[in-house]
Amino acid sequence: MADALLETLRAIVGPAHVLVDEGEIAPFLTDWRGRFTGRARAVLLPLDTAQVAAIVAACLDAHVPIVPQGGRTGLVLGSVPDASGNAIVLSLRRLNRIRAIDVANRTMTVEAGCILAAIQAAAAQAGMLFPLSLAAEGSCTIGGNLSTNAGGTAVLRYGNTRELCLGLEVVTAQGQVWDGLRGLRKDNTGYALRELFIGAEGTLGVITAAVLKLYPAPQAALTALVALESPRHALALLGLLQARCGATLTGFELMSAFCLQLVAHHFPDLPRPFSRTHPHYALVELSSNESSQHAQGLLETALGAALEDGVALDAVVAASVQQALGLWRLREHIPLAQAAAGKNIKHDISLPVSRIPDFILHADAALQAAFPGCQPVTFGHLGDGNLHYNIAPPVDVGHEAFLANQAAINRIVHDAVTLFGGSISAEHGIGALKRDELAHYKSPVELDMMRAIKAALDPLGIMNPGKIL
Ligand SMILES: Cc1cc2nc3c(=O)[nH]c(=O)nc-3n(C[C@H](O)[C@H](O)[C@H](O)COP(=O)(O)OP(=O)(O)OC[C@H]3O[C@@H](n4cnc5c(N)ncnc54)[C@H](O)[C@@H]3O)c2cc1C
Repeated sequence: MADALLETLRAIVGPAHVLVDEGEIAPFLTDWRGRFTGRARAVLLPLDTAQVAAIVAACLDAHVPIVPQGGRTGLVLGSVPDASGNAIVLSLRRLNRIRAIDVANRTMTVEAGCILAAIQAAAAQAGMLFPLSLAAEGSCTIGGNLSTNAGGTAVLRYGNTRELCLGLEVVTAQGQVWDGLRGLRKDNTGYALRELFIGAEGTLGVITAAVLKLYPAPQAALTALVALESPRHALALLGLLQARCGATLTGFELMSAFCLQLVAHHFPDLPRPFSRTHPHYALVELSSNESSQHAQGLLETALGAALEDGVALDAVVAASVQQALGLWRLREHIPLAQAAAGKNIKHDISLPVSRIPDFILHADAALQAAFPGCQPVTFGHLGDGNLHYNIAPPVDVGHEAFLANQAAINRIVHDAVTLFGGSISAEHGIGALKRDELAHYKSPVELDMMRAIKAALDPLGIMNPGKIL
């Protein structure tokens, strides 16, 4: 049976694009952080939507599960197969054409395997901006971004990937092609099918192409690092900047002093903008469609007010693109510095922005009571209510040994998240990693509706089984 399926698949995509050799398929089986390696019958590399549809139909006939895969940068074990060896991995990376750019409609139509950075570059070449931006943009694909509803650094102004998508082309779990590639901003014709596939992590169908929104490219961007007394002061600064700078505020990232200490220790060549340590920092970005003078005027006036009102302790405004990149590198190197320090217990959580200061106080205290000396690495997209609240061991405890506390620490943090009206996954998704946590925290009503959708669209359960539900 399995051999017959492989023969069918070879006939669909060509023998060169059905990988079965252990050495060849190995890179597709391990997750980005190297925490889990699964097994698969084969890795398939189709070239177009018709081939994807034929593959799904063949796998449906044979009852063989499919794991869609983009750039494999996902952080919740969504794009790697389980250990059973039953599934095939469906890599979308050869579906990488930009099909069309419509500047007047401010849209572009792209295939799912396009690398995010290539989409940004194509938009820029057309004089436009595709605003989705994240540290994995050189490797992740738009199909993966859509399937995880990725966030990134510009959500405050432009929204998550969901808000950046107008239409989808999807191969359903029945192997049919749904052409929903409509570049419409208004379309009230019944259920919003597009929304089901966005954020579904490949459990409902395979996204093969999308219509994305474009924006006018800003004339200037300005970056500043602001020193702050506490997360409450960061919240006050956010409110002040939103009131004074409006839609020009495109980024607002929070970082605790410990984050920058880690970065300074592991990456000593990166800039140290302040001569002394402050308790917290906000990385702020303004983008202006008028001019750099416009952005500078707005930011300097707003920061002047923040310093005068005691909201901010100190501020550094980047004087050049180089300096701005240096400030962003501090933020982007926090996960790398953490990885260099050793393993830690990660949380990608979402909260109402207004409740973040109280959440941090509450969760820090609860963790210290249970695990004295543990070190929260608190940073994230404060403007979106999204914290990466990662817990490193006390100085005298080894990183590996500390991981034994993962379940207990997850419980403390996620209970606190629930108490403050938040979500246990802000932007990374559920995958296989957080599946049990989802079952613990979602209400039975929500879980029932999710299961009903899954059963309706994928009755045989061939699409990425074991992920989310
Ligand atoms: C250094 C680094 C920084 C990151 N920063 C951010 C960040 O700021 N914000 C953020 O949100 N995420 C971030 N991530 C997580 C990750 O980059 C995103 O989740 C990204 O969107 C995944 O894209 P991918 O192509 O690598 O998808 P994969 O990892 O290949 O897949 C992710 C999920 O989508 C499914 N999938 C992939 N393609 C398709 C398709 N065409 N159709 C159906 N299902 C599909 C997979 O089955 C899997 O469940 C980061 C990751 C890294 C490594």
